[in-house]
Amino acid sequence: MTDSPAGNLYDLLREHFPADRGRPCIETAEGRIYTYADVEATSGRFARLLAQLGVAAGERVAVQVDKSPEAIFLYLACLRAGGIYLPLNTAYTTSEVAYFLGDAEPRVLVCRPETAAALKPVADDASVAHVLSLDVDGGGSLPAQAAALEPVSGCVSRAAEDTAAILYTSGTTGQPKGAMLSHRNLASNALALHRIWGFRADDVLLHALPIYHTHGLFVATNCVLLNGTAMLFLRKFDANEVIRLLPRATVMMGVPTFYTRLLAHLEFGRAACGNMRLFISGSAPLLEETFHAFEARTGHRILERYGMTETGMNTSNPLDGERRPGTVGLPLPDAEARVTDDTGKSLPVGEIGVLEVRGPNVFSGYWRQPEKTAAEFRADGFFITGDVAKIDGRGYIHIVGRAKDLIISGGLNIYPKEVELHIDGIPGVVESAVIGLDHPDFGEAVAAVVVRAATQPDITAEAIIAHLKGELAGFKIPKRVFFVDELPRNSMGKVQKSLLREQYGRLLTEA
Ligand code: AMP
Repeated sequence: MTDSPAGNLYDLLREHFPADRGRPCIETAEGRIYTYADVEATSGRFARLLAQLGVAAGERVAVQVDKSPEAIFLYLACLRAGGIYLPLNTAYTTSEVAYFLGDAEPRVLVCRPETAAALKPVADDASVAHVLSLDVDGGGSLPAQAAALEPVSGCVSRAAEDTAAILYTSGTTGQPKGAMLSHRNLASNALALHRIWGFRADDVLLHALPIYHTHGLFVATNCVLLNGTAMLFLRKFDANEVIRLLPRATVMMGVPTFYTRLLAHLEFGRAACGNMRLFISGSAPLLEETFHAFEARTGHRILERYGMTETGMNTSNPLDGERRPGTVGLPLPDAEARVTDDTGKSLPVGEIGVLEVRGPNVFSGYWRQPEKTAAEFRADGFFITGDVAKIDGRGYIHIVGRAKDLIISGGLNIYPKEVELHIDGIPGVVESAVIGLDHPDFGEAVAAVVVRAATQPDITAEAIIAHLKGELAGFKIPKRVFFVDELPRNSMGKVQKSLLREQYGRLLTEA
């Protein structure tokens, strides 16, 4: 396998398709099988159609569709046509999509048939030349128009540094920004992950992630395509379906919520995992408690890795070495990571600061936002991730939280993760989210939102605070503790702290 990817990512992937193109690539939960021959032919037909619609090198193709094998073929078609693939979360509303279309100016929009009527005027306003549809079963005007076309045979030549995809950041602060990912970014990351996770000729990946996000689209899909093997393809995560299909899989990639949901099924255990060699977690922090509970139930130590839209994957726990719960492991072989103070000076081992990364996986910048891009890179090329972290004596990286979640109370810094770990350690607490709420005296006050175990519904705010007093400095102790049945999470399993701040900010001032 070449380690110096060049040019169009599709060429690299195709080099690794199996010689026997009749081998399966995608098998849906309903049992439909798509071979590598289907992958080539359908993506080739879609690529022909895109080219006829004027998608030339560098033109954007915005896609807001449900997860389906055809959506994967569309991604590959876009690479083959030399275009820039721009996937959008299906949860985005018409007005949100309007922003993305206005910003990215795609030539083509592919959407669900049921949203086509609402999106057409919005697309017209943004001068999008063509609106096509694709439904969850692979029907719609896109496949219909492509059906009779001759598949393209190869793909449009691209330089490694040309943009292959634009993924908008989730935009929890301000407008979402379009991260431009090059063919090299995606290729180098896929090659590195494929190698360090030891992909084998008999691997079958269980794919239950969304494919508008880097995790399901690039990490999972590109690894499988690079391996030339099959994936079991679920429309969405469904614990019963995963338990049914796992015995046929060897690798699963998931967000932490997948693992907590599987554990909530008492029948889930070693029997379902008999064929599995690797469970991988990322996109949000995996609680140590989940790691241990999963190991006790299945015998598997979940491998946690860390990445983001702008960079792809940066770090991973080792396949063969020690997987350390509560850490995201070591930098990938071709990536570098450092923890710095506000000025960009590296901090010693164990000190908490800003995590910065550099490597062939790191994006080139935000679409049409040179100032924002410049503000997030150091002069020596390191990207400032916005995550707060420390590196321990063995080089393992611990993510402490997002810089924007840092709480400054009475001029003192509080890292929510530190307080959360203490609260989570209290018997009867399932999990917690610590947030800063506006406070007239302190600037911000620490508050905790706590999920109690069903077995201990009586644990009180006072008991939690009393417990913490023995463990933490006074300024870190929550002024208020709120109880909820469940923390709000987005589709990638991230706790939505902004929602909690909105919801509880008012309650604090009323208190
Ligand atoms: P996104 O761009 O949506 O992929 O979000 C990236 C962010 O998710 C990172 O900057 C981290 O804050 C968070 N993240 C991803 N993986 C992990 C992980 N394993 N542990 C903690 N946070 C993570």
